[in-house]
Amino acid sequence: MNEPTENRLGCSRTPEPDIRLRKGHQLDGTRRGDNDSHQGDLEPMLEASVVSSHDKKVSWKRCDRGEDTKKKNEGFMGMSPLLQAHHAMEKMEEFVCKVWEGRWRVIPHDVLPDWLKDNDFLLHGHRPPMPSFRACFKSIFRIHTETGNIWTHLLGCVFFLCLGIFYMFRPNISFVAPLQEKVVFGLFFLGAILCLSFSWLFHTVYCHSEGVSRIFSKLDYSGIALLIMGSFVPWLYYSFYCNPQPCFIYLIVICVLGIAAIIVSQWDMFATPQYRGVRAGVFLGLGLSGIIPTLHYVISEGFLKAATIGQIGWLMLMASLYITGAALYAARIPERFFPGKCDIWFHSHQLFHIFVVAGAFVHFHGVSNLQEFRFMIGGGCSEEDAL
Ligand SMILES: [Zn+2]
Repeated sequence: MNEPTENRLGCSRTPEPDIRLRKGHQLDGTRRGDNDSHQGDLEPMLEASVVSSHDKKVSWKRCDRGEDTKKKNEGFMGMSPLLQAHHAMEKMEEFVCKVWEGRWRVIPHDVLPDWLKDNDFLLHGHRPPMPSFRACFKSIFRIHTETGNIWTHLLGCVFFLCLGIFYMFRPNISFVAPLQEKVVFGLFFLGAILCLSFSWLFHTVYCHSEGVSRIFSKLDYSGIALLIMGSFVPWLYYSFYCNPQPCFIYLIVICVLGIAAIIVSQWDMFATPQYRGVRAGVFLGLGLSGIIPTLHYVISEGFLKAATIGQIGWLMLMASLYITGAALYAARIPERFFPGKCDIWFHSHQLFHIFVVAGAFVHFHGVSNLQEFRFMIGGGCSEEDAL
């Protein structure tokens, strides 16, 4: 059953040995027979094999005499376990070399190994497993299902890094309590930069291996919790400027909830496709816990003051951006309605990333306004300005 494959490979445009990556990638005659399109899909991945000059000669020989391959395989079966292990190591080295040279092509969803299968509405354009960090990082500059996910948060990260540096170097004269306020804003920037960094790193090395993907997915989810926790700090600081007791209580509560979300996201099952809704729910719940301090502020200060001085409008916009992003992510819209049409651009995860960056920026704008207001009226807390 393997023979036609071997002949096809042996005489392919690039004469190279076939490399079977994982169980899910193995060519089997039944599949080829069932659907010819699979053959076309798999061919590029197999084409990507790399060989040393010595191996090339072997492959050319294979082209000349297809029988050799069969004999070689039979020979392999007859090898001692030590030789087989050596042979397997050589194959692995070839594969890593291939990946380093960037000679891989995108593959369809149905041939991905289980650990890389996340969204079955994205039919094509996936990276194959590439157990080389160098290859993963080089793939940032290639077009595949993760390109948009990587760049949305990579550029977002650079943006918040520049914004954070600019803000930290603002003259102290623009603040009522420069050190305190810079620490408060610094925690927001730290949360945003960590979240976006973990995210683009995760999407970059996601295809490395199951273990690496698992570690970075946990970092990615922890980053979301850090962004939410960091976002609460300047907002609570300025909103309850003259009322430190509830400010501290709310800060402790959000820290406890955030740490709980980080602990939950360390659970292996949390990253699996069937827990997509749970993931969206956990982080949405964490963000929406801000409703309680918001209500506290509105009840104490009145809606008018909350809407003007309290920047509730910007907070509402931020919340609606995060909620929309999380809803698209959980429901996998729009690819659900157009399977295969959003494989590379505008799929739900990419849109979710854009909404996260937009939400974080809107939040920054809102808390900057709070800071400006505090600077305008000075640091004093009159009876009139209890909060
Ligand atoms: Zn992501």
